[in-house]
Amino acid sequence: MVQKEFSKVDEQTLDGILWEARSSNPNQDKFPAGPGRDRNECPACHGTTWLNLGDNVVKRCICHEKKIVASRVAVVLRDWPEYTTAHLDAKPINVGQHNAMVRIRENPQGSYFLCGAFSRGKTYLLVAQFRRLALEGRKCILRSGRDLMEELRKAEMMPEQGSAPFESPVLQMISDETVGHLFIDDVEKAPARTQFRAEMLFDLFDTIKRRQLGLSLTSNLTLAETAALLGEAAHARLYALCEEIII
Ligand SMILES: [Zn+2]
Repeated sequence: MVQKEFSKVDEQTLDGILWEARSSNPNQDKFPAGPGRDRNECPACHGTTWLNLGDNVVKRCICHEKKIVASRVAVVLRDWPEYTTAHLDAKPINVGQHNAMVRIRENPQGSYFLCGAFSRGKTYLLVAQFRRLALEGRKCILRSGRDLMEELRKAEMMPEQGSAPFESPVLQMISDETVGHLFIDDVEKAPARTQFRAEMLFDLFDTIKRRQLGLSLTSNLTLAETAALLGEAAHARLYALCEEIII
């Protein structure tokens, strides 16, 4: 697997984007799609991204921010191109995925440990949950297990002389945000080979638990089976944090 550059990881971060106007937008549901109208066109502004408030006063339509968020989510999903439209209302590919989808739909902000064999649709579910929360404007970060470990490792390294220390978006989110959700694909590929790495993972999961943030993961192994890979302490935190769903 090709090592990713860190400029890319930074781009993967979704800055906190608020859609406060969404709920206060009085025009939101007043323009049902009619005949001849693009189904995807915003019904409030008809795709112009501006709302006419009268007396030559205009304001940005909420769809403007939605489009920005959607494009950021698309950037994040460059590494998961087959999942760019992953959706919790999609037609499931097997009973396990169906049950998981129902469960996640019931509580889209929940923390889940999605496990099962290859091609059971775990990553699809993870990305569908990520997209759901991110498109709602929540702070969310999606990482592969491998990239996550690389990012944590880099954050612990001494910066080279004259250069600023590397700021990990993941560590920033879990220490600063009051609402945030970390998504890790293939967590078993983030093995804690050293005591130091095991402590980094424990700190990460411990902070997420303490600060009541969200954590969802996929793994080919069951939660019990990841203990040996991630270290007992980190594993215990995962147990406490996540609902295990076997697909
Ligand atoms: Zn609009």
